[in-house]
Amino acid sequence: MKYNLNVAHLYGDLLNTYGDNGNLLALKYYAKKMDTDLDIDIVSLDDQFNPKDWDIVFFGGGQDYEQTIVSKDIQHKKEGLTDYIEDGGPLLAICGGYQLLGHYYVGANGEKIKGIDALDHYTLSQDDNRFIGDIVIKNAETGEIYHGFENHNGKTFLGKGERPLGEVQSGHGNNGEDQSEGVIYKNVYGSYFHGPILTRNGELAKRIILTALSRKYPDADLTPQKELTIEPTF
Ligand code: GLN
Repeated sequence: MKYNLNVAHLYGDLLNTYGDNGNLLALKYYAKKMDTDLDIDIVSLDDQFNPKDWDIVFFGGGQDYEQTIVSKDIQHKKEGLTDYIEDGGPLLAICGGYQLLGHYYVGANGEKIKGIDALDHYTLSQDDNRFIGDIVIKNAETGEIYHGFENHNGKTFLGKGERPLGEVQSGHGNNGEDQSEGVIYKNVYGSYFHGPILTRNGELAKRIILTALSRKYPDADLTPQKELTIEPTF
C-alpha cells in the first residue's frame, strides 16, 4: 500500500455497543481501495492521547455505566482531543462517544455525566423512553442520504458552530424535535447511527479517509482516491 494512517479507537474496550466496531472494518475496507493501510490501536483508561500520533479517531457508543467510567478518564485527554479537533483532525463519534464530546449527558438515572466541552452540544435524558429504530437522513451540503439504526435514551441539542450531519427523513434523530441528526464540526462527525454507520454509508468513510490523507500527505496526488466510486450497500 502506498499510504498509511494511524487510527485511535478511543475506549474501544469499553464503548463498543451495537456493532460499532464494524466502523473500523468498513474504514479498513475503503482504505484498502484507496491504497491505504490502517494501523488501529485502542486508546483507553490511563493512556495518553497525543494528537500528533493519530490521523483518524473513532469513538463508539456504550451504556451509561461505561460512559460514567469513560467520562472521568477522558478529562485527562481533554486537551489533546480538543487540540486534535481544532487542528482539523478527522474524528467519528457514535452515540455515547458523540455525547461525551459535548458538555454533558444526563443519564437515564438522572446522573449528569460530564463531557469534554470540545463541541457545543448537550444531551438530556428521556423519561422511560428510548429512540429505537431505522432512520434515514439527508446531508444538506452533499445531498447524500444516510441510512442507519438508532438506539438511544439521550436527546442531544446542538450549539454554536455545529451543524447537523443530516436532516431526519424518517426516525427520531438528535432529539425528536428539530429534525436534526448528528453533528458536523470541522472534521468531526457525530451521529446516533448504529448499523454501523460506515458499513452502510461508504461516502462518509471515503470522506474521512480523504481528509486524513490530505492532512498527512499534503503533496500527494489523491485523484484516484477522490474518484473511488461508492456502491450503495443498503
Ligand atoms: N447511553 C447512551 C444513551 O442511551 C448512549 C447509548 C449508545 O451509545 N448507544 O443515550
